[in-house]
Amino acid sequence: MMPDAPLHTAPASTAATAPVRLKTLDRAGLEAFMEALGQPAYRGRQLFKWLYQKGATDFAAMSDLPKALRARLEQTATLDAIRLDRLQTASDQTAKGLFTLPSGRQIEAVLIPDFDDATGEVRRLTVCVSSQVGCAMGCTFCATGLMGFRQNLTAGEIFDQVWQMNRLAEERFGKRITNVVYMGMGEPLLNYENVLRSLDLLTHPDGFGLAPRRITVSTVGLARRIKQLAHDAPRVNLAVSLHAPTDPKRSRIMPVNRSEATDLTALREAIRYYTATTGTGVTYEYCMFHGVNDTDADARHLAEVVRWAPSKVNLIMYNPVEGLGFTRSHEDRLNRFIRILVEEGVTVTVRRSRGQDIDAACGQLAVKAS
Ligand code: SF4
Repeated sequence: MMPDAPLHTAPASTAATAPVRLKTLDRAGLEAFMEALGQPAYRGRQLFKWLYQKGATDFAAMSDLPKALRARLEQTATLDAIRLDRLQTASDQTAKGLFTLPSGRQIEAVLIPDFDDATGEVRRLTVCVSSQVGCAMGCTFCATGLMGFRQNLTAGEIFDQVWQMNRLAEERFGKRITNVVYMGMGEPLLNYENVLRSLDLLTHPDGFGLAPRRITVSTVGLARRIKQLAHDAPRVNLAVSLHAPTDPKRSRIMPVNRSEATDLTALREAIRYYTATTGTGVTYEYCMFHGVNDTDADARHLAEVVRWAPSKVNLIMYNPVEGLGFTRSHEDRLNRFIRILVEEGVTVTVRRSRGQDIDAACGQLAVKAS
């Protein structure tokens, strides 16, 4: 288990200490911080709005705070945000941003526009965010897994990816983003507290104000955390990266499956608990690897997994990562796989990868410089 990142309550004293990084604080933490400065708690709520509803990047802009307080904040706190260093746009208009964190490490986020085939109108604008620098899970087909784990992101750093990609969406498409998926670098449930806090920043009416149903958290299947999420964030969607429907196959490509605490038996129990508690189904993400997990028998085993609890399958056409030895399933194999699933009564969708020409597709996010 990775250490969860820092504080969410304000330090007792702010005098003569390093400036407080306001974006590491949650709402209660901002109120406590203001109280520590001798201010009423509601000033903390004002700060929250400035940070997460208005995206303020300096204290001078915070016009409803007294001037003396703004000057005090300059001395005692920072508003450090992630910095967009490079933006690449693919031929399908998917855009990948490379961001530098205050620590100097780098992460990537992706803006994925979805166009209506008939009208060409933008139907959806999804931001895919990273929750960690690198990842400890070591899935053998994934570029991020190759990096190993480097750092958890704070809630503010996760939020900033959405904020900055939303600005891009408004510039390019004249629309606000519609969806957020936690499917970038990292395993969100290993950075649990910060991910929960970032969900609050994104969904709170005084924050970004996105409906929870527009947000999907994706996990490799950490059973204990899935159960906890059923209580802590029951209204966001849950996606589980399955990628293989039996223990031997899954353990071969996903080391997380080798533990009894997170194998398919544990996952089944957690998924049943989650769906019964939240009253909503889950989506299984299933990357199609040629000759690895795409046989007829795999399709039938996958249908059995789907019968555990209300759920559906999202098949993903894999984007090969150099040196990892996986290739994508052939089109005729994909079609046969889908046919079997449909015959078995499974609801199935296919995700054609986006942004392949800029390595922005699933499993391709990795920052070599970090
Ligand atoms: S697929 Fe997800 S969980 Fe697995 S190594 Fe890559 S980022 Fe980590």
